[in-house]
Amino acid sequence: MKRVLIIGSGIAGLSCAVSCAEKNMEVTLVSPFPSERAQSVLAAGGINAVTDRHEPGDSIACHIEDTLNGGCHIAGKKAVTGLCESAPDIIKWLEKLGTVFSTEPDGSVSKRAFGGQSYKRTCYCGASTGKQIVTALVMEARRYEGMGRIKRRLWMDFYSALIQDGVCCGAVFYNEATCAPEAITADSVVIATGGQNALFGKTTGSTQCDGYVAGKLFTQGVELKNLEFIQYHPTTIETDQKRMLISEAARGEGGRLYYEENGRRVYFMEDRFGERGNLMPRDVVSRCMEECGKDVYLDVSFLGRERILQRLPEVYELCLKYRGIDICEQSIPVSPSVHFFMGGIAVKNNHETNIKRLYAIGECASIYHGANRLGGNSLLAAIYGGKVAAASIENNSAVGVDTDGADELAAAAQTLRALKGTQSRYPVKYVRDMLAETMRESLGIVRCAEKLQSGIDDVSFYLSVADKIRYDSSELAYFGYSVSAILTLAKATLICAQSRQESRGAHYRSDHPDTKDACRAATVIRYDNGEFRTYLDTEGKYES
Ligand SMILES: Cc1cc2nc3c(=O)[nH]c(=O)nc-3n(C[C@H](O)[C@H](O)[C@H](O)COP(=O)(O)OP(=O)(O)OC[C@H]3O[C@@H](n4cnc5c(N)ncnc54)[C@H](O)[C@@H]3O)c2cc1C
Repeated sequence: MKRVLIIGSGIAGLSCAVSCAEKNMEVTLVSPFPSERAQSVLAAGGINAVTDRHEPGDSIACHIEDTLNGGCHIAGKKAVTGLCESAPDIIKWLEKLGTVFSTEPDGSVSKRAFGGQSYKRTCYCGASTGKQIVTALVMEARRYEGMGRIKRRLWMDFYSALIQDGVCCGAVFYNEATCAPEAITADSVVIATGGQNALFGKTTGSTQCDGYVAGKLFTQGVELKNLEFIQYHPTTIETDQKRMLISEAARGEGGRLYYEENGRRVYFMEDRFGERGNLMPRDVVSRCMEECGKDVYLDVSFLGRERILQRLPEVYELCLKYRGIDICEQSIPVSPSVHFFMGGIAVKNNHETNIKRLYAIGECASIYHGANRLGGNSLLAAIYGGKVAAASIENNSAVGVDTDGADELAAAAQTLRALKGTQSRYPVKYVRDMLAETMRESLGIVRCAEKLQSGIDDVSFYLSVADKIRYDSSELAYFGYSVSAILTLAKATLICAQSRQESRGAHYRSDHPDTKDACRAATVIRYDNGEFRTYLDTEGKYES
């Protein structure tokens, strides 16, 4: 039996675990928290698919075209075609596993309009699509657990990958229960650890997604891709702990964006782009909001209380709970916030990285979304990626390496000991807060060389004092050992953004406002003896 180690148990990790178990492989699924606490459960809007009973005129070809256009033509056509073609079967699979999609009176799956899409094709489960899918996949994983094909391990933080002679053969973790490092070996390893929200402090996402795994793997020779493409969701509201998302479903149901000028409302998106202006792709809406320089509001009140409570209950509840706003009566003050990462670990179409037997799936991998993701496509990509990786692991004939990881374990134990200490000019929390400020300042919706360079300088400074950074011993050791790799990922992101001297999708440069044909390719970055090296993937190394 092939042994597969999957790190991260959100929707991508679960999809891969169940798919591997279906293929009779032996899976260890590892994460610090239960799946029910992964960011995936926050997804409310839906998942895209052109199902059997679709809107007249829609087709899988149109889903492919919308996805490629939304991504500004740097996502691989073959990968996107596979994604969109698989979508109808994925919906059927999820239904079979117990996901309850909202349906029309004729029994067909309901669809809503989402940004950048020509037709209504976002399938949803009331206001809890992510929770429904996670629950169904967890139930199936538990069934395989009973059969001994899946083993779930909790309270395990990734430390490093075990890589020998260019082949991955397991990983070292920090076990929060024993407070000691632990190695798990496997024939193949799948990374499914989500995006890198915490680089930016408060975002719409989970603080569990801090980019450490991608950053650490980068220092271990794994190539990253398209890091500069960071999606700002146009409609979020500020709360004490985080930015809360006002789902695109609100605009899909007819919600209108406006600002006020001389006592009258200016519906700036409709004025500029016509009837469908409010549902332009997220990068376009966010940039227009930034450019107008005014306080922007979202109005759904005209839909009426009954429709709002039926179609947008989560938006109603969160506005009331966190801001005391009754959206049936009042407009919502909204502003853009970091939401999703199109970039991440570079993978080929079979989801393998440049290291043999090491795979990446879900939001931590960069493959389907190009320069801008369409809403509803990332749940689809997380599930599809898990299935593709499982199929590819089944067929992988690369020779494995036998190791117990003893050397890496000893090194990890030594590093963990050295990190402890209470007195330091650079406590982890301070460095993380400074980093978030730098990233927000340098990598906003509009960027320029000067701000990017200043960000690179700041992060380089913190990296130069990384050996002096200490964590408070009341915190988890994870906070201590993760900070250096997180800084490295931040620097790589800034360098990618500096290297792309054009504007495309979510990457807008005020000093290079044009989109250039010569730059129509992914940015790849690798770490070579402490040097950061970027290249444009014009040869299609990752499109194979
Ligand atoms: C508010 C919100 C709403 C959204 N709505 C939609 C939507 O309607 N439709 C859509 O398509 N997309 C939506 N998205 C995006 C989508 O939810 C995510 O892209 C997707 O769920 C990512 O799934 P994942 O499995 O890759 O990662 P996650 O669900 O983030 O799971 C990551 C896993 O990795 C683990 N992990 C993290 N760090 C470590 C570590 N160091 N060591 C070990 N394990 C680790 C975590 O504990 C977790 O188990 C939304 C996102 C947000 C934030």
